[in-house]
Amino acid sequence: MGFEDFLYICSMISRIIDEKAIDRVRHLLSESEKVVITCHLTPDGDAIGSSLGLCHVLSAIGKDVVVVTPDLTPKTLLFLPGVKETVAYTRYEEYATKLLAEADLIFCLDFNESKRVDRMESALLASKAPKVMIDHHLHPGEFADVVISHPESSSTAMLVFRTLCRLELFDCIDKSAAECIYTGMMTDTGNFSYNSNDPELYVVIAELLKKGVDKDKLYQRACNTFSESSLRLNGYALSEKMELLAEHGCSLITLDASELERFHYERGDTEGLVNKPLAMPGVTWSVYLREDPTQIKVSMRSKGQFPVNAVCKDVFGGGGHLNAAGAEFKGTLAECVKTLKEAMANYDSYLPKIKTKQ
Ligand code: MN
Repeated sequence: MGFEDFLYICSMISRIIDEKAIDRVRHLLSESEKVVITCHLTPDGDAIGSSLGLCHVLSAIGKDVVVVTPDLTPKTLLFLPGVKETVAYTRYEEYATKLLAEADLIFCLDFNESKRVDRMESALLASKAPKVMIDHHLHPGEFADVVISHPESSSTAMLVFRTLCRLELFDCIDKSAAECIYTGMMTDTGNFSYNSNDPELYVVIAELLKKGVDKDKLYQRACNTFSESSLRLNGYALSEKMELLAEHGCSLITLDASELERFHYERGDTEGLVNKPLAMPGVTWSVYLREDPTQIKVSMRSKGQFPVNAVCKDVFGGGGHLNAAGAEFKGTLAECVKTLKEAMANYDSYLPKIKTKQ
């Protein structure tokens, strides 16, 4: 990989990240030895992919770097290179706290507010290390010293790639880093099926492929690997539990604790389920409610301009993106359903207008 390749990639992707932010990150990196990279609670492919991708590169330039996750990485992502060296706060609380406290630089990836690291928040905020946020969620909070926030970016992994290029570290992206970055880009766009019209995505993918990424294998591992019981659970949810609320353009799936138990539910088993009802032309938004031990997990997806982030925020105090959002509800599943159904009509104005024949 020579200087020409570096110039080529710089010329092919636009410099959306502010020069001052890049300068500050460059300076902070030059001053630091011990680096911690962290991401949001219940990490997804983008959170883990971005973190590990950055970790591989910083390790290649000689940093003492470790990824600290608020809780465990889902099983579907355990194939990613470097994932075994990550430290989950929920499992190694003391060690994770020590790493955060002793760090001289912390990267906060794929989250916009410190509360997104849940129980790890106080340890994160207590650390004196400067913090760099790289994220694509709306409304970045004020806890970080450098904020690289681009909600128009389809993934944080893409922003990490952009940041690395701007730091002139493109050459240090090896196959492992490329696999992690690609996985983040792929999972946050449903294998490039939504938020995926930016031509630059495909310039970056081409570069990652040149670094040895096997995209077909990564798709199979991260997006299309399910256990028998999880396939059956998803089939059951669609066949028996999907309620269509046609007048609101909405599909609602609920799974209670006994149903999850019956299908030996493990975390990640219903990943992607909420997207399935959007296949129906009459469904503009889809809701999936799952009864977890201490709360109801609310997931919403939508098509077009229907703002599920507004529904999640107004009704359940959650948030997210226009077409993908979530929340947690403290109460019973029945109460959650009732709350949701009572609010549904408020969003009918966002439904696409029905074209009537003249
Ligand atoms: Mn993301």
